[in-house]
Amino acid sequence: MTRIVALFNQSGGVAKTTLTMNLGYHLQERKHRVLLVDMDPQASLTTFLGLDPVELTHTVYEAVVGEEPLPIKGPIHGMHVAPSNINLSAAELELVSALMREMRLKEALAPILDDYDFILIDCPPSLGILSVISLVAATHVLVPIQTQFKAFQGTDLLLNTVAGLRKAANRHLAIAGFIPTMYDGRTAQETRTYKAMLEQLSPLAAVLEPIPRTIAFPDASEARLPLALSNPKHPAIAAMKKIVKCLEKLP
Ligand code: ADP
Ligand code: MG
Repeated sequence: MTRIVALFNQSGGVAKTTLTMNLGYHLQERKHRVLLVDMDPQASLTTFLGLDPVELTHTVYEAVVGEEPLPIKGPIHGMHVAPSNINLSAAELELVSALMREMRLKEALAPILDDYDFILIDCPPSLGILSVISLVAATHVLVPIQTQFKAFQGTDLLLNTVAGLRKAANRHLAIAGFIPTMYDGRTAQETRTYKAMLEQLSPLAAVLEPIPRTIAFPDASEARLPLALSNPKHPAIAAMKKIVKCLEKLP
């Protein structure tokens, strides 16, 4: 069974893309066959992987709007990727009246499911159709949340969205867990927020290992590398490996 994990949070800048790339890397390191799907028109994932979005003639846009086969590049650092570029922003409008539009990504993935153990979907920072088709295609949703009071406040909206989507379109969608990101345990406010996350979210799904805030992540992305290749001894790697073990145990 292929686990299709959507990294979802309607807020930007919470480390969805960074974790898609790095968790994907650690999954392939453990011999899983990994596909990353870039569902964000801003194409950060595509860029982090060293591809130039402007030069791509085939992206997830053609697959979800034109119902063409999903274009797959790679392997890059042991992972395959279905890239995106700014064309995908038009999909929001073009899919408005499309029949069965919610199924478009699920259908694009169906023919290649047997080729992968894990498919990680990097969602855009919105609640629009691109996030909806991602969550409909997914078996699991993984939620990075910035460990900061204000960021945590948006979680209610997120949970309502997941609950509504389950009811309307994908009743098997499971929450794989919440990941507290950019956590600095030395600040009192972030420690309080982390505790609040544990208390309030644990009854819903696992609160996974927090990812420390460190400049090593933007540095690695700038170098177009997963952290494990740009800074192999960095302590954040151990946290990501623990999360990967949890992903391997997902039902
Ligand atoms: P999203 O996909 O949710 O918008 P990104 O993964 O693009 O978020 O991350 C937003 C910015 O924060 C990027 O510049 C990224 O390099 C940086 N970043 C990600 N994780 C961390 C971290 N743990 N510590 C510090 N900066 C981080
Ligand atoms: Mg992103």
